[in-house]
Amino acid sequence: MNPPDFTLDKIKFSIDKSTFEKAVALYKGGKVTQVREGIRSYSGVILGTKPYRVSVEARNYKYSSCDCYLGENGTLCKHMVALALHVVKNGEPLSAQDSKQITEPACSGILCQPSAEESEVAKRNITMAMRYIKPYHGPSSTWDANQESLEEGCSRLSAVVARLPVHPESTKLLIDLLLRLDKKLQMGGVDDSNGIVGGFIEEVVNVLKEYVWLDPACKGTFVKLAKVGTCFGWEASLVKMIDE
Ligand SMILES: [Zn+2]
Repeated sequence: MNPPDFTLDKIKFSIDKSTFEKAVALYKGGKVTQVREGIRSYSGVILGTKPYRVSVEARNYKYSSCDCYLGENGTLCKHMVALALHVVKNGEPLSAQDSKQITEPACSGILCQPSAEESEVAKRNITMAMRYIKPYHGPSSTWDANQESLEEGCSRLSAVVARLPVHPESTKLLIDLLLRLDKKLQMGGVDDSNGIVGGFIEEVVNVLKEYVWLDPACKGTFVKLAKVGTCFGWEASLVKMIDE
């Protein structure tokens, strides 16, 4: 079978938790059957309450169809995602890591210095995720896609944050990330009226507070924030910690 244009990460970072988990359960439960490759597309039968006929396009797993109630109404359903999982894994089992979806930033709780390779991978993944934090130029018909892109970017960034060990070096990486996001909000034309990026920034600020609680040396890097004016003052609570 030829691989699709989308990847497992693409699916994980662009779908809600509930649909993803249900799709994983279907795939793991062997409910994805009769998978066939067509021209730049795949089809299969997903065993649910009844057998559902599903097809997914190779260029984008969201361009799919299913004859269940949701699918008939144009909603992305768990059956479509289950077939997409089969296609990206080529029928191979999902590992524990594969099945885990991270959509919010969290503190890893691991105290150590990131290795040179870990730092490199984190930086590369940040650069890739930042491409999804796109400016909005209109027309209004592109609004939903633009906001979905912001969500995907923040999910990708969340996965990077969750993998970082607690260390002043990680702190520096996260503060640089927040300043880049702030710049995008202030001058980069990103329309965050839904608060997707702002919410992400606030969550990372909380992760940084946890860092300091676990390793006070982490707050040394906050000095960098003392003289900046951010878009909604998110840096204030971190700057306050410097002298505490
Ligand atoms: Zn369906």
